[in-house]
Amino acid sequence: MNSKICSNKACEHEGLPIPINQFNKDVSRASGVADWCKDCWKIKRLDFLLSRTPEDKARLRKVIERKNKRYLKMNKVCTNPNCLHEGAEQTVDSFHRNAKKKDWRADRCKTCCAATSKEAYALKKSKGLLQVPL
Ligand SMILES: [Zn+2]
Ligand SMILES: [Zn+2]
Repeated sequence: MNSKICSNKACEHEGLPIPINQFNKDVSRASGVADWCKDCWKIKRLDFLLSRTPEDKARLRKVIERKNKRYLKMNKVCTNPNCLHEGAEQTVDSFHRNAKKKDWRADRCKTCCAATSKEAYALKKSKGLLQVPL
């Protein structure tokens, strides 16, 4: 099998057999190649990209913003056992953004990150509140 007919009715090769190397490999098919020729896939992909209108992008942005807003409303407790806020809830604004985290926020509050750990340590120590060494 050295040539194949593209199964796309709108194919620019108009139903003529085209060399098999003009088809993408597709192991899921018995023939081992895609039904559509590479040219058709190229057009399809281009169509897909062009179909992403500015409205689509705006919608996508809105979804992300909504997600952000939900997290903005949430309060969070700093995971640092020696936090100066002593386990009190803080608004997420008090936490740095961290895309790796599930809630997009760092585990420790900004105060903990900003305050040099030495300072926090000394303050806690002077208050006799230090339970877990930093
Ligand atoms: Zn084709
Ligand atoms: Zn903290």
